[in-house]
Amino acid sequence: LTLRLAELRDLPAETVDGHRVTLSANIEFPHEVDACLQRGADGIGLYRTEFLYLSSDEEPSEEDHYQAYTEVVGAMQGRPVVIRTLDLGADKMGHTSLTEPENNPFLGLRSIRLSLKNQDLFRTQIRAVLRAAVHGDVRMMFPLISTLQELRTARMLVNIVIDDLREEGAEFRSDIPIGMMVEVPAAVIMIDRFAEEVDFFSIGTNDLVQYTLAVDRSNESVAELYQSSDPAVLRLIQQTVDVSNKTNTPVGICGEMSSNPARVLLLLGLGVRSVSVPPLAIPRIKKVIRSVTIADCEEIACRVMQLESAREVDLYLLDRLGDLV
Ligand code: PEP
Ligand code: MG
Repeated sequence: LTLRLAELRDLPAETVDGHRVTLSANIEFPHEVDACLQRGADGIGLYRTEFLYLSSDEEPSEEDHYQAYTEVVGAMQGRPVVIRTLDLGADKMGHTSLTEPENNPFLGLRSIRLSLKNQDLFRTQIRAVLRAAVHGDVRMMFPLISTLQELRTARMLVNIVIDDLREEGAEFRSDIPIGMMVEVPAAVIMIDRFAEEVDFFSIGTNDLVQYTLAVDRSNESVAELYQSSDPAVLRLIQQTVDVSNKTNTPVGICGEMSSNPARVLLLLGLGVRSVSVPPLAIPRIKKVIRSVTIADCEEIACRVMQLESAREVDLYLLDRLGDLV
C-alpha cells in the first residue's frame, strides 16, 4: 500500500478524458504540511488559522501569525496556499473572551463578523498574511461572508493595512488574490454580485448544509437531517458553480463533502474542477478522479439533479461509484 501511495503521489489528479482537477489539502496546523507533500497535494486549499487562538491563552502576536504562515508557505515551495482569516466563535471557541454567551452562537457573533468587530485583531492577521506572501503563492480568504457590505469592509481593511505596511517600508505583497467562502445561502443568492468583487470562491459545505437546512452541524439529535446530498444543497452548489464558471471566477469545494468518493463524482459532473480535502483523503479522491470521465460524471449529475432526497442521491451515487471505480 505504501508503494502505491508513493506512485499515486506523483501522478496528476486527471480524469480518464484528460481534465486536470486541482486536488488540494485542508490543514489546521503547520506540521500537517508534511502529510500534504507526502500525498502530492497541489496546494493548501484551506488553511484554518483558528489554532493560533485555540491553542493558547494569550492573543497571538503578528509574529506568531507570520511564523506559522511562513512555515507552511515555505514548505509548499510555490504551490498555492489559501489562508483563511479567523473563523472563531460557535463551534470554535478559544480561551480568549472575544464573545459574550449567546443564545444562538451559530447565528451570532462568529467568524468574519467577529473579525470585523475586533478590527485590531483582524488587521494584525492581515498584516501577517501579506508579509508571509513574499515567500510563495499566498491567497487570502474570508469565511462566512453573508453580505456584500461585509466583503467590502474586509477588503477596505486590507487596503488600510497595505497603506500602513507601505508607509513602514515593510516587505510584503499587495496584489494577492482575495476570495471568500460560500457557506451561507444568502451568498449563493447574490453569487453573481459577489463574483464581481472577489478573485475566487470556495464552497464550504459544512456550514452551507447547516444554514440551508436549518440543522445545527454539531447537534446529534438532528444529525440525520444534516446531509450534503440534500437536493436543496445541491441546487445551491450547482448555482454557485454555474455562475463561477460563466464569470471565470475560480471555484473550489473545501467542505467535507469533497472527501467523499461518491459525492466527488457528482461535484465533477456539476463542473467543479478544484477540491480541497483532509491530507489523508488525497489518495482515495485522486484515485476516483483518475478512474472516471467528465462525460460519465455529467450524466450522473444530470440524473442526480432530478432526485428528491439525500438518501436517493447517495444510493444512486454509491451504485455508480461501484461501477466506475
Ligand atoms: C465549511 O464550512 O465547509 C468549512 C470548510 O469550514 P469549517 O468546517 O472550518 O467551518
Ligand atoms: Mg465553515
